[in-house]
Amino acid sequence: MTIAKYILVITCFIVVSSPLAVLAKETKDLSTEDIYENRMALYVKTEAITNVPWYYLAAVDTFERGLRRSQKDRPNEDGFIAIYFSEEEWSGVTNPNRQDTNPISIQFFDGVGLDGNGDGKADRQDDEDVLYTFAHYLEGYGVTESDFKIALWERYNRVQSVNIPFGHAKVYQQFDTLDLDDHSFPMPLHHNYSYKNTWGDRRGWGGRRIHEGTDIFANYNVPILATAYGIVEIKGWNKFGGWRIGIRDLNNVYHYYAHLSGFEKEIEKGKVVAPGDVIGYCGSSGYGKPGTQGKFPPHLHYGMYRDNGYTEWSFDPYPSLKSWEKESRRNR
Ligand SMILES: [Zn+2]
Repeated sequence: MTIAKYILVITCFIVVSSPLAVLAKETKDLSTEDIYENRMALYVKTEAITNVPWYYLAAVDTFERGLRRSQKDRPNEDGFIAIYFSEEEWSGVTNPNRQDTNPISIQFFDGVGLDGNGDGKADRQDDEDVLYTFAHYLEGYGVTESDFKIALWERYNRVQSVNIPFGHAKVYQQFDTLDLDDHSFPMPLHHNYSYKNTWGDRRGWGGRRIHEGTDIFANYNVPILATAYGIVEIKGWNKFGGWRIGIRDLNNVYHYYAHLSGFEKEIEKGKVVAPGDVIGYCGSSGYGKPGTQGKFPPHLHYGMYRDNGYTEWSFDPYPSLKSWEKESRRNR
């Protein structure tokens, strides 16, 4: 091999492998705090070069991170940003080169990929390019809340896939940080309560349904607390759950609190909550028409449902409750 060829090979190797490989390795080795710092820097930078508020970008990024964790057809992200464009979407459906990074040919084939960091490439694996491409898409609809909803509808064509990131945006806007991982047990620990793992047990009322949740038995009117940062998605009566509240967290998980005796004042649909906020009170409502109570001992029925962008399914909340109980004890 001639020196010139050798240098060419080395150069190619460095150009191709260095930025991405280093980033991927670093992301894995970073603390959560450092990841949030890097991610926030990317949002803020993109906000500065477009007109899109950082919390819209954070909301969709977080929503799609949840989708990547729950869908088999989407790989986990290598970098800091999880917003997903397929190769076809990025390069253009008729583009013969699926790995195209040339902004001019991508544009020619009607691909969406853009160069966000001015390095002359529109790289689907580059965080700045992906985030800029997505911000540019949002900006095309405008930056009001209703514009944001329309852009989400055009991207996902599904009501819940509009509502969930829209809720995430409200949470990020209110707390002004990405560091929202704390949790709380759903009752204050100094009250008497008891629970065991009843996942999948048969239920006594309402036909053949399995028990999708954990029952936490306690006295009437023990305060019920939000377990995570999130937004109130549902509040009201349901014939099985009685007075119930549903809260959506930043992992796209819906937390279902049923059989309440009543709701905390100011808890309304669309309200942003933090772990430990009182949302209602323990009771025995449900199994009948609105107001029915006393058909069973007072308890909180606690359920968790994960949304994967297509559908929603229930999973066992017992391990989470155990770990939040420990976390609440440590924080006392
Ligand atoms: Zn139950």
